Amino acid sequence: MQVLKFGGTSLSNAENIHRVIAIVKQAMEKDRTAVVVSAPSNITDLLLGAGTCAAERNEIYKEKLTLIEQTYFGLIRELIPVLKQSQLLSLVKKSCNEMEDICSGIFLLGEITPRSKDRLAAYGEWLSSHVITEALNAAGIEKITCKDARELITTDAAFTHAVVDFKATNRQIQDFFSSTASPLCVVPGFIAADISGVTTTLGRGGSDYTAAIIAAALGAVSLEIWTDVNGMMTANPMLVSNAQTISRISYQEAMELSHFGAKVIYPPTIQPVMNKRIPVWVKNTFAPLEEGTLIKSSVAQKNRNTITGLSCVNNVALISLEGSGMIGVPGFSKRLFEVLSDEKINVILITQSSSEHAICVAIDAAMVDQAKLAIDSTFANEIALKKVKPLQVERALSIIALVGDNMRNLPGISGRMFSAMGKNGINIRAIAQGASEKNISAVISVADVQKAANVLHEEFFETVHKQVNLFIVGTGNVGFKLLGQFEQQRHFLQQRLRLNLRVVGICNSRKMLIDSKGINLEKWEEYLNVATTAKLEDFVKNAIEKNLRNAVFVDVTANGKVADVYSQLLQKSISVVACNKIAASSAYPVYKELKHLAGKYNCRFLFETNVGAGLPVIATLNDLINSGDRIHRIEAVLSGTLNFVFNHYDGSRKFSEVVRQAQEEGYTEPDPRLDLNGTDVARKIMILARETGKKIELKDVDNQSFLPESCMKGSVADFYNEIAREENHFKQLVKEANEAGCKLKFVASYTKGKASVRLQHIDPNHDFYHLYGKDNVVLFYTDRYKEQPLVVKGAGAGAEVTASGVFADIMRAVE
Ligand code: ADP
Ligand code: ASP
Ligand code: MG
Repeated sequence: MQVLKFGGTSLSNAENIHRVIAIVKQAMEKDRTAVVVSAPSNITDLLLGAGTCAAERNEIYKEKLTLIEQTYFGLIRELIPVLKQSQLLSLVKKSCNEMEDICSGIFLLGEITPRSKDRLAAYGEWLSSHVITEALNAAGIEKITCKDARELITTDAAFTHAVVDFKATNRQIQDFFSSTASPLCVVPGFIAADISGVTTTLGRGGSDYTAAIIAAALGAVSLEIWTDVNGMMTANPMLVSNAQTISRISYQEAMELSHFGAKVIYPPTIQPVMNKRIPVWVKNTFAPLEEGTLIKSSVAQKNRNTITGLSCVNNVALISLEGSGMIGVPGFSKRLFEVLSDEKINVILITQSSSEHAICVAIDAAMVDQAKLAIDSTFANEIALKKVKPLQVERALSIIALVGDNMRNLPGISGRMFSAMGKNGINIRAIAQGASEKNISAVISVADVQKAANVLHEEFFETVHKQVNLFIVGTGNVGFKLLGQFEQQRHFLQQRLRLNLRVVGICNSRKMLIDSKGINLEKWEEYLNVATTAKLEDFVKNAIEKNLRNAVFVDVTANGKVADVYSQLLQKSISVVACNKIAASSAYPVYKELKHLAGKYNCRFLFETNVGAGLPVIATLNDLINSGDRIHRIEAVLSGTLNFVFNHYDGSRKFSEVVRQAQEEGYTEPDPRLDLNGTDVARKIMILARETGKKIELKDVDNQSFLPESCMKGSVADFYNEIAREENHFKQLVKEANEAGCKLKFVASYTKGKASVRLQHIDPNHDFYHLYGKDNVVLFYTDRYKEQPLVVKGAGAGAEVTASGVFADIMRAVE
């Protein structure tokens, strides 16, 4: 004997039922067969929905019943020859009339009891078993028996989640199957009856259990659960798109996974078949050739992942009983669990807590009010005496669990689990490790479930790819190049670094584009052009609410408003990579706070390109400091603009023309005065000083500007007029340098806690003498680099190198 169970989706329409028929026919070639059927998908929801609407005096229940009738009528018309339809059609009609009667009774009373819920819900599988029997018959299978499960499975009267009386049930099943010679019996799942024959059900999803009960009673050779996925998977495929089928899994693991929400198998299903060591296959009706999952006693551990799967239960609440009166007084915990048991409230998880004055358990959120009432009344005395507090309740929670038989042998799993979640800002409310050490579970907010499932799946199952989600603000020169570099590097990152880089949002001053699945970078401009009008707040809100893992906000603007949003993002564990200098060079407390937030929320605030564009200046400085070196002095030429200007200005062309050329070639800030008066360089040396730990403000940088005061007034156009007027001043500067055999360089230095920037004469022996084009150079004098400094030198401006610096920061942020 073998038992095959088909779920709702497998029976949802005639086409699918034809697949089921083919599977049954093939199975029957091997052995005698029992087929357990669910109701077609959605029917149970409609039935219970009809009952609930009727109880609320809502006439919509009639529409629901009509939909049910039409579903069965449709199946019958498509599956069964006309001549054989009438009997079945009238069975459906008669049943629908009964459902109508039950619902109008409920309507009159304005109340639905668990008992009438079961009575209504039972029609779903019962009619399904008749339709499937006739459909199998119409497909040429003869001598089929359709047997009502209410005559086979006896339960107590706990309606909606009845408990099976195995002694009576096993006997009835054995008697029935030995009394019939049918090669094929069809049985409705989910439904049963109490000792007086009143209809009960085994709980939502209970058809799996029916099949397991029958398989166990008969000592079947196998149980096959046919559903709509390729077996039990490493995670719910609806939550984690990279979930993989688990080919072999132990009964224990399957039980834990389903207990923690893997709905592919109803949790009580495993117990009866495990006791009889009956192998269970989970197979896909829609891909019957896929191997599926085999659930059995023990699974060879060789080459196997330590973690077998992960699963989540939603709609969980945490209740905690706390109070100093509990310390050293035995019996509190016993009394608490007794109340829960008396109220038939299932404890999903008990958290580990070393403190003696709190007990915290997770229960189904729907039971929370009942629990609070019962517990507060049990402990009324202690509450009045302030020995314990009234029960505390937290709702809107979920449990996420990692499951694996082999977990106990490998330390460090929980560390990895919590650190992966922590890095993504997922707050853990409570944790528990199963007594058997086959699971570790954490209670988190419902809002974090999808993110947590994907983060943990990546951490424990995906040796292949880690997904990085980027939000880019700014599509100017640098942003444009950056997006191009992503597209160009995508393949390399996937192959070599196992990173899957996705740009989820792009925003500029006009438009913003969001696509959770990742924007197609070959066509981003086209899509952005027709996207919605940009609103920075909305863009940021999206980045936060999408709650994506490994998220990075990339600011490639020079806009102060964008810099203002960093703190919100960091507080949600979204890393910030800024090419924008405003934040790192604003008032020291702002800089410090952003750094602090990044540390506190486990993410990164990076701004390498603020100094020397793509050159690794800040990274080198941090590496030196982190490895224990001490910085004595920094000397640097950090302005692409000023280098350009002084390399090109020899008095033959006007100073103002050279500046204009620098601006036209894209070297300068939008307002070239910020470069020329030294402010930009001062900001850079200040950032470096801050990175060494120095608390310093821009006003503390000694800036001896070579620009006459008059040049700083008015607009940019006024500035050009003014420097033209001051031509002689600039000529004089060059002349003096030439006479001394020197070049002019604008040098920034930081030594002994003091920073300064100024135009200097550089003689031919100096490191800075041979500095051409837009190159920058930074010299670090440290404990280790005393006489000969550590030199970082190269192009310090330009969109391409700046973009690559931003790219490098993104890589650091997700390391
Ligand atoms: P059926 O109607 O066949 O009983 P269910 O809907 O009850 O099917 O269960 C199958 C569904 O379970 C899948 O479609 C999938 O969305 C969900 N599911 C949740 N967790 C898992 C998991 N770990 N592996 C496979 N499926 C899962
Ligand atoms: N039809 C029932 C339900 O939807 C039982 C089942 O499908 O297993 O819960
Ligand atoms: Mg199911």
